[in-house]
Amino acid sequence: MSTDASRELLESLPELPNGKTFCFDCNPEVPCFNRCCAELTLPLTPYDVLRLCRHLGMGSEAFLGTFATMRSFPDTGFPLPMLRMLDGPDELCPFVTPAGCAVYDDRPGACRFYPLGRGTKIASEGVAERFFVVREDHCRGFDTGTERTAAQWLAHQELQPFNASNDKYMRLMSLVRATGSPLESRMATMCVLALFQMDKFRQFLTAMRVCDRLDLSAERRQAAMEDSLHGDEALLDFGLDWMELIIFGQSQGLAPKAD
Ligand code: SF4
Ligand code: SF4
Repeated sequence: MSTDASRELLESLPELPNGKTFCFDCNPEVPCFNRCCAELTLPLTPYDVLRLCRHLGMGSEAFLGTFATMRSFPDTGFPLPMLRMLDGPDELCPFVTPAGCAVYDDRPGACRFYPLGRGTKIASEGVAERFFVVREDHCRGFDTGTERTAAQWLAHQELQPFNASNDKYMRLMSLVRATGSPLESRMATMCVLALFQMDKFRQFLTAMRVCDRLDLSAERRQAAMEDSLHGDEALLDFGLDWMELIIFGQSQGLAPKAD
């Protein structure tokens, strides 16, 4: 998720033009293996949390309480869970092991992107993106590797669902930012539920009969209520539309049921 500070940092890096390749591979053979999985400032997006909860088989409340420190974006008031490094001098990521990442199949988008940075802005036709290569002295992945374009790196790292969800989240935040006022605390609390706690949000929707008051197709409703990874993905997509609806009274993807 781009913040103004991270955007400025990205802009200072060399851009990777469309179609140009960079040479990189990261695997257990690199001499620096695991070295970058420590001392990280790593914001988790709603989609990151969804994938990690499923991977670990943990409830969202337990996950956030164990692995995240909750902060909020100062300009919008949206919740901002930060992956909590382990206590101790090395400040290791809680998921790093001598054999590598213990949550590799569901690791956060930021871990997948590295060493690529993605700068985004909302454009009329969706999200405009630019890519930058982050070269750090300790990282030896550039020494020998495979030549890939940014698009090939995204495919290699299976980033498509991360970007699709994160871009929709970024759009919602930019709508709130444009109002010039952060979310009021009641809405920020609702964002935690609707965007970061798929298990509890599903229970809330059922208990409050929220879907009965919405113009929602049976397929979308059924998909969002399914207790599975696909169900969580459908529910987060719904949650982003629903937050837009309750913050602004209207949403691009969801409408109240007509009387
Ligand atoms: S989640 Fe995995 S890849 Fe990301 S920092 Fe932690 S151990 Fe490394
Ligand atoms: S420092 Fe670079 S090459 Fe080494 S483990 Fe991290 S990403 Fe891979």
